[in-house]
Amino acid sequence: MANYTTTTPDWAVANQSAVMSGIEGIKDTTVGNINPAFTSGAFKPKRRMTLTEDELVDGVARGDRMILSRAITLIESNSPKHFAKAQRVLQRLLPRTGHALRIGITGVPGAGKSTIIEAFGNMLCDDGHRVAVLSIDPTSSITKGSILGDKTRMGTLSRRSEAFIRPSPAGGTLGGVARKSRETMLMCEAAGYDVILIETVGVGQSETTVRSMVDFFMLVVLTGAGDDLQGIKKGIMELADAIVVNKADGDNLVRAKVTRGEYERMTEFIRPATEGWPTHAYLASAVTKMGLPELWQVIQLFKETTTKSGVFQRRRDSQLLDWMHAMIDEHLHNLFFGDAVIMGRMPEIREAVLGGVISPTQAVAELVKMFDIARAAQKKVDLFELS
Ligand code: GDP
Repeated sequence: MANYTTTTPDWAVANQSAVMSGIEGIKDTTVGNINPAFTSGAFKPKRRMTLTEDELVDGVARGDRMILSRAITLIESNSPKHFAKAQRVLQRLLPRTGHALRIGITGVPGAGKSTIIEAFGNMLCDDGHRVAVLSIDPTSSITKGSILGDKTRMGTLSRRSEAFIRPSPAGGTLGGVARKSRETMLMCEAAGYDVILIETVGVGQSETTVRSMVDFFMLVVLTGAGDDLQGIKKGIMELADAIVVNKADGDNLVRAKVTRGEYERMTEFIRPATEGWPTHAYLASAVTKMGLPELWQVIQLFKETTTKSGVFQRRRDSQLLDWMHAMIDEHLHNLFFGDAVIMGRMPEIREAVLGGVISPTQAVAELVKMFDIARAAQKKVDLFELS
């Protein structure tokens, strides 16, 4: 009987169940129509070779989708060894990044995000672009399922050689998912994708995260009466450079026009997401493709306008620095709360604060005094693992 065991290899992504190891003893126990070359040892099944750093860099730079996938898997790995290698690869590819247009798309489930991405992505590929589609779906770490990860979505786009679709990294905190997604975006740019579409369902903070990664951000909304509009948070409208009223087709067209007018009026009362770019509402249908070429023109105009005014580059610069600062915050947070001495004293100090014995300010001062960063850093943790 073949001996099946399960194991969790070090490349496994966080919180994933164990995978099955190879079948042991197959040569001794398998009978029947097995190739004699196999049992004689003449035939060696091909192993999935580990790619070297050079092979990864060259492969990604060549636009090899298989190697790009492998490089992204390395980025998503929680193994410190893989982390270091992924960072070296990324570092070498960095000069090839930054040239793509980064577009974020958010909206409630059912708004039509994936249908729009498929139609829009196909249109862009027809126009000669190379399109990468990424998603940020922090819910997957909570539900262990995924709102965005449905494999059947974007079927026609995923079959095109000019397109690359990668689901959200599984598991982890939003901070970890965000880092992996940002680095994945850079890998895709290095592989020659010139339009990056980043989709998120607006759950928790994920729309803010996507906003902090992209140049242009659009909110896909459904037609509906005033009641529905009230459900849209003003905050999310303030992140958007465009509001796309989707499903403007068939019987829904008239309602869509009314909805567009309502959003248009609302935009007068919000602060535009991008300096010098007034946010407007547009009609579109992912099914009839109505409004999609116009949407692309709007995005082109956005790029032209903000490039001329300097806002485009300023946003990219501040995104980079914000990203760095957020990572510093998170590393220091992890070091502090992961430190054995701090962990040991924390319950007592919490009690003292709750009992009114010391103030929170005093508590912080005491804890910080106890904290030795060099000692904390010695603990065998992957400091860069934010998930
Ligand atoms: P997501 O959850 O935002 O990604 O939404 P989906 O793209 O999965 O779309 C939800 C449903 O709306 C699907 O049944 C789509 O076929 C449908 N849908 C999406 N876009 C349109 C559109 O422009 N017109 C019409 N009539 N239906 C659409």
